[in-house]
Amino acid sequence: MQFDAERRIASGLRTAWIALATFLGVIALSVALVVAFEHAIRIADDLSRKDEQQLVARFVARSLETQASSELGLLSWDEAIRHIQSPLWRPGGGPTSEMLWLDREFGHYAWATYNADRSFLVQSDGTLIRAWANGRPDGDGAYRQLNGAIGQLLARSMRPGQVLGVPVATVRLGVQNAGARPGAPAESWKVAWPIDRAGSLAPRWAGGLVRTDHGVSLITVGSVVPDHDPAMLSRAPVWFVTTQPLDPRIILRMRRELLLPDLGLTMPDDPAASAKVSAHTTTNMIPLTGINGAALGWIRWSGKSPGPSILRSASPMLWTWIVLFPCVLIGGTIVLRANWHTTRALVANAAQARHNALHDAMTGLPNRVHYMQRLHAELAASASGQARGDVFVSYIDLDAFKLVNDTLGHHAGDELVRQVALRLIETLPSGDFIARFGGDEFVVLRRGEGGRSLASQIGMQIMRTMDEPFAIAGNAISVTCSCGISWGPAQSEDPGELLRRADIALYRAKQRGRARYRCFTRDMDAGMKLRLELETELRRAIARNELSVAYQPIVSFAGEDSKGTITGVEALLRWNHPERGAIRPDMFVPVAEQGGLMIALGNWMLAHVFNECAGWPPCDISVNLSPIQLMARNFVTTIADLVTATGVDPHRIVLEITEGVLLDRSDHVLQVLGQLAEMGFRIALDDFGSGYSSLSYLRQFQFERIKIDRSFISNIETDADAQAILCAIASLGRSLRMKVVAEGVETEAQGAVVRAAGCGMIQGFLYWRPMSAAAVLPLLDPARPMETLPVRALRSA
Ligand code: C2E
Ligand code: CA
Ligand code: CA
Repeated sequence: MQFDAERRIASGLRTAWIALATFLGVIALSVALVVAFEHAIRIADDLSRKDEQQLVARFVARSLETQASSELGLLSWDEAIRHIQSPLWRPGGGPTSEMLWLDREFGHYAWATYNADRSFLVQSDGTLIRAWANGRPDGDGAYRQLNGAIGQLLARSMRPGQVLGVPVATVRLGVQNAGARPGAPAESWKVAWPIDRAGSLAPRWAGGLVRTDHGVSLITVGSVVPDHDPAMLSRAPVWFVTTQPLDPRIILRMRRELLLPDLGLTMPDDPAASAKVSAHTTTNMIPLTGINGAALGWIRWSGKSPGPSILRSASPMLWTWIVLFPCVLIGGTIVLRANWHTTRALVANAAQARHNALHDAMTGLPNRVHYMQRLHAELAASASGQARGDVFVSYIDLDAFKLVNDTLGHHAGDELVRQVALRLIETLPSGDFIARFGGDEFVVLRRGEGGRSLASQIGMQIMRTMDEPFAIAGNAISVTCSCGISWGPAQSEDPGELLRRADIALYRAKQRGRARYRCFTRDMDAGMKLRLELETELRRAIARNELSVAYQPIVSFAGEDSKGTITGVEALLRWNHPERGAIRPDMFVPVAEQGGLMIALGNWMLAHVFNECAGWPPCDISVNLSPIQLMARNFVTTIADLVTATGVDPHRIVLEITEGVLLDRSDHVLQVLGQLAEMGFRIALDDFGSGYSSLSYLRQFQFERIKIDRSFISNIETDADAQAILCAIASLGRSLRMKVVAEGVETEAQGAVVRAAGCGMIQGFLYWRPMSAAAVLPLLDPARPMETLPVRALRSA
């Protein structure tokens, strides 16, 4: 059972740990999920922002390339080369027709066709040839503004890849840069120039962003090269430069093509806008960097961050989780708590169960199991030489426990047991191991040296614990106890045997009249063995009819000088053992009582006596009843059946009971006695004066007679007190309308004393010994004269 509880605890703990781990796992998972989700949204937003930034940047770059490409017709043109290489200024200072052609075909055409608000023709070294504004020739004011940017673009256009169209190869050109500036040194100009599939020179180009009066503009430079005759490029080419404002039309196109409806430009000189840009990191933007690396402004738009839409689509799941999570949390907590409590309760229960298994519930003292474990251990310690001396086992039994139980109730009985336990704990040395074996039985264990003398010392200590009365239910109750003591390993090395020997000693103490202790001796054991043998033999004796009944006359005296008459007989059991000879009932009746034979023996006796006496002359027939018989549940029915079967008149029968029977379960016994009286039986209280002799018994039941115990009579001649008590009992009997029988009267002196005291009946060897039925029957003859009675001798003395 204990193992089972421990297994349940272990499994409970395991479950608790698993539940805890699961619970923590769910929490960790949830946190991880939320973090991962948030991270994924951020990454998605980041990726989307980067995508948009790349798209916008590429759009700007492509716009520049588109602008340059749209000028391809102008940039790859023999005719243009021819015009450019012709004299452009008349000696008088006015433009030549060649220049006017350039005005028309380049300046005006670019403005009208490509919305180029400014355009320039410049030499390779950046020298201005002609400037146009909105399609018309212009001064060099704007050019000077853009001079630096144009220079950088010219250099950039010479980098690999800065080619319009699809170049397939390069040709080496070696041309003389005449230089447009007056007095500028002629430079040798050698370069690898790309050619397209048709063998034409492919124009070089470059583009970028610049700040103009209109804001930000796209600026492109493109080389003007021959489309058919490469030889025409005898000098470094002339470059056509155009600017085009990054105006609402381009912005509009960007919005449409990139699906960014709120895309717009922000200038650096717009402080509110730039602050907004830097503060709102969610707003997407790319910087517009000028050719010289300066920030010209930003293109910004509100990013199409997919986070919210992901959030929206995932929200049902999230909401489910958000709702579920607390449920899981609460549920988990409840399960965890329940499990924890269960486990704790199990642990507590197991501890309690362990305690209960070894302790007595009422007193909290160790119980029999615990005591035996301890006794075992102590004897083992003695055997192995680990401990010196003997282990003393003192078996204690309260003498009047049943009386307290019956007169004051079971609660009082329980209270007495508790107080006795407390008294033993308080009074005996602290090293004593005190246990309760149930009922009113206590057992003390003590280790010590000294054998029998220590045993006696322990016995006296235990007797003294009962010196003071106990306060039970408002009454001061004096209680005595009996005790039997044995000690091992001197008397036995076996715990069970040692306890049995203490029990035998206790039995002897009770037999000797209670309120005393007895130390175990070997002859007690021999007596015990004999008892066991007798038990087996008695069983056989009942079956084999070895038992018989003797009758002892009881003489009644009507008055002071009455002669005395035999008014009845007491039936006494006799066992004539084939080998052991006659065995006294004092010897075998207790054996029958202890061995469970008393009912059978008692029934045999009653049946025999009822049968035998049925036809006798009128006289009282006394029969002894054992407490065991009276206590048997069906005794009344049994005796009623016997009456019917034998036809005996119950009014002739006197049933003798001892007061011991009233000590134990008196309520039930009184009820049985009442029923027996109703049937016509008379009841005698036997052996009065030998034990407790409580006068309260005499009040509880109307006895027909009391029989004063023969041990009381034996010293009546010498003991004056005994005489006084005898007189008191006799007068008490008279006043309670009970006959008083003096038993065991052997001498005439005793007879004189008891008669003088007022006992109306005498049973004793002085008159008659117990005798067979055949011998007693003639004495009962009513016609028989009194003179034959030995009482005459008494009289004559
Ligand atoms: P008891 O009931 O007190 O019986 C009287 C005992 O005193 C008898 O002993 C009797 O022989 C003895 N006695 C009578 N007069 C004298 C005397 O002057 N001097 C001496 N020394 N003894 C005398 P017995 O027959 O040996 O019976 C002993 C006890 O055995 C009885 O004591 C009774 O308690 C028990 N007993 C006998 N027969 C039965 C029975 O049938 N049923 C039960 N339950 N107990 C019985
Ligand atoms: Ca008797
Ligand atoms: Ca008696």
